[in-house]
Amino acid sequence: MKNCAIVGINWGDEGKGRMVDLLTGDFDVVVRYQGGGNAGHTVVNELGKFALHLLPSGIFRPGVVNVLGPGVALDPENLWTEMEDLRSRGVPISPENLKISDRASLLLPWHRDLDALEEQRLADKQYGSTKQGIAPFYSDKYQKKTVLSGELLYPEEYREHLRELLEWKNLTLTGVYGAEPYTMETLERWTEEYARKLLPFLTDTGAFLREARERKKSILLEAQLGALRDLDYGIYPYTTSSNTTAAYAPIGAGLPSLRIDEVLGVVKAYSTCVGEGPFVCELFGEEAEKLREAGQEYGAKTGRPRRVGPIDLVATRYGVQVQGATGIALTKLDVLGYLEKIPLCTGYRIGEKVTKEFPYPTELNSAQPVMEYMDGWGCDISSARSWEELPREARAYVQRIEEAVGCPIDYVSVGPERDSIILRGRAAK
Ligand code: GDP
Repeated sequence: MKNCAIVGINWGDEGKGRMVDLLTGDFDVVVRYQGGGNAGHTVVNELGKFALHLLPSGIFRPGVVNVLGPGVALDPENLWTEMEDLRSRGVPISPENLKISDRASLLLPWHRDLDALEEQRLADKQYGSTKQGIAPFYSDKYQKKTVLSGELLYPEEYREHLRELLEWKNLTLTGVYGAEPYTMETLERWTEEYARKLLPFLTDTGAFLREARERKKSILLEAQLGALRDLDYGIYPYTTSSNTTAAYAPIGAGLPSLRIDEVLGVVKAYSTCVGEGPFVCELFGEEAEKLREAGQEYGAKTGRPRRVGPIDLVATRYGVQVQGATGIALTKLDVLGYLEKIPLCTGYRIGEKVTKEFPYPTELNSAQPVMEYMDGWGCDISSARSWEELPREARAYVQRIEEAVGCPIDYVSVGPERDSIILRGRAAK
């Protein structure tokens, strides 16, 4: 069976959760390999509407084993709350269908505080963090200043390790930010209340995945955010603090030797962006308001209105390249039904030059979008289930994107529900 990574091509919120939920039926294992509770996948299925933050989107499928790999920011408080919420709504979660890597590092309570304190210090120069502690967590992880979840299995050593970190972290909290220091009592209470509850789920997920491969099980790797938020290849410093690219998936999943056969890049039919940073084709005023309302573009985690714009073919083509996408799922095409003319950003004007190549982040500040307009279809397409049922203008729009980004669009999504999908090309076979 083939392995597949489902990744974001743009700024995130492309509808990856919806695609994972659709395709999990064909896979045995679903792995989240990076990021934490700082973004959300929205999944709509027969059990209702769910905003997942840390749990893999395969959690709804009976028989699918879900894994949180060593690359995730394991936030016990967020994860436990999410697990309780899903369970109360009838989703069974047990060590049978959820396995957490014992090598995943713990996001500790002070990471969230430090995130908020730093954004406060930055004042009007904020990055627009969701304040979930992700940046402080990953910087501590790479400084080797946090704990691995598996250390919880060795309570004495865990406590000692935590005590050392506490001493060090309080220097920053009190000295740099003038904040309250943490105490061992607070950390122990937190450990009891959240972290230790995860013990039954901890396991060597690398060994589990290796065995799954030997038994010819298929693995779906699920990313958070998108290529333009990748720490190394995104719009730095307006990136996230981890690698959202498919190339990182085997490492973050816990099986570095895993070969990925297919990379499904998820592209939204228009652009959205949460937080700060350059967003070349941003719309403002009434035009933006209409698109935001039509697409219900408000953050899954924060409820913040998302910044919106037309599809950005320059950024999308770059995203496809960075991800090494072998196919595309184009989502939310139905949202554009209200437009008479559909705008597309086909190039960037930087100074005297027009380019189709995504530039160095610094140049994005002065880039102006070069626009093209296509005829809209002006009707509701959410009940279309085949390529032929789509209006001619909608098909032309899909084909224009396909041609510009150089990757086949195998799926066209026309609604949030599981079956609101059109399969094309290889996917239809
Ligand atoms: P993710 O983080 O990439 O999974 O994306 P989000 O969950 O933040 O955003 C996608 C939103 O769009 C969710 O509310 C989905 O239910 C919704 N959605 C996904 N695909 C479609 C679609 O084709 N049409 C419409 N109207 N909504 C969609």
